[in-house]
Amino acid sequence: MNTKILLSGAIIVLFGITKAQAQINFGEKALGAVQKGMTGFTFSDADAAALSKPAVDKMDAENKVAPATDPYAIRLARVFGKYTKGEFYTLNYKVYLTKDVNAFATADGSVRVFSGLMDVMDDNELIAVIGHEIGHVHNHDSRDAMKALYQKEALIDAASSQSVKISAITDSQLAKIGSAMIDSKYSRKQESEADLFAYDFMKKNGYDVNAEESAFRILAKMSEGTQSSFIDQMMSSHPDSKLRADNAKARAEKDGLYKPYVQKPIVNTLPVVKKTTAKKTTKKTTAKKKK
Ligand SMILES: [Zn+2]
Repeated sequence: MNTKILLSGAIIVLFGITKAQAQINFGEKALGAVQKGMTGFTFSDADAAALSKPAVDKMDAENKVAPATDPYAIRLARVFGKYTKGEFYTLNYKVYLTKDVNAFATADGSVRVFSGLMDVMDDNELIAVIGHEIGHVHNHDSRDAMKALYQKEALIDAASSQSVKISAITDSQLAKIGSAMIDSKYSRKQESEADLFAYDFMKKNGYDVNAEESAFRILAKMSEGTQSSFIDQMMSSHPDSKLRADNAKARAEKDGLYKPYVQKPIVNTLPVVKKTTAKKTTKKTTAKKKK
């Protein structure tokens, strides 16, 4: 999927079709500081959200988003629907219908879960993995990643030709931001802190914390097996799953909560029974037979 985004970006550059532009409102301070080449400038949560939002919109437009009536979307809403309010962000959830095993959350609070991940994780395990992604947002990792990208990718060029407050970001730059958001490279420290966030989140909300270990064991197993191609992205941007599983287990043991986790059934389909219709049909048939 990532390749697809990069490719579409590349095609746009090749043919020079850079007309599609998004207007992004940045804090005046941040923009000015970047133009002056300052490194320690203030880059607020709002700036990061402003930069992330159009990139997420672009990805939503380019991916197969599960409609609200889709079983995957219904399941995600059931599991996460109540968790939309963070300290400084409001979360919104969408499912991308793709075999890839991945999930990401961006600085504007957009959480995107790939159906491939939902195929291999039960509800508790999903909470562990998605909780980790939300942890990156909560811990400002996503904001800091956006800030670094903003400086590195010389978005300043586009910005400087515009008014101070509004910068026009080209489509290919948006694609670059998008793929960087999916493949965000966080430090080991940031990764383990996000894992800890997921663990605490589960504990606080009464979920079985052992699902965290289980989720990482699944990822570790998949990366060794035939499904490894689907998991490459998640693996490449995240440290050793085995180690993360061991750490999750150690945390649970320390809390006296450890118990080997047994995966619950994974249901990504709607219940099939339509009792009323079925009964009516039966009755009609019976009545006809009687005649
Ligand atoms: Zn991470």
